[in-house]
Amino acid sequence: MMLIDCPHCGPRAQEEFTYERTRDSVVPLDATPAAAMATLYARANPRGEEDEIWRHTLGCRGWLELRRHRMTHAIVAVRPLGPAVLP
Ligand SMILES: [Zn+2]
Repeated sequence: MMLIDCPHCGPRAQEEFTYERTRDSVVPLDATPAAAMATLYARANPRGEEDEIWRHTLGCRGWLELRRHRMTHAIVAVRPLGPAVLP
């Protein structure tokens, strides 16, 4: 189990979060269909750290960017991508 330190709520279990995508798989709105397909499905899968986008769906519902190691799952950094969306 991973423990994710939400900048808004503090440390919480991974089960409260939803993995969305890697930072480099965000498709610009003006991307061609071929460019969007290449971005989403033809990416490299190197070992090492990667920036990922997560959402605290069972907490503040805020968006986060995690820098996480692909092999060890060690979380190196967490930063908010916007304000918390508290009800
Ligand atoms: Zn949170």
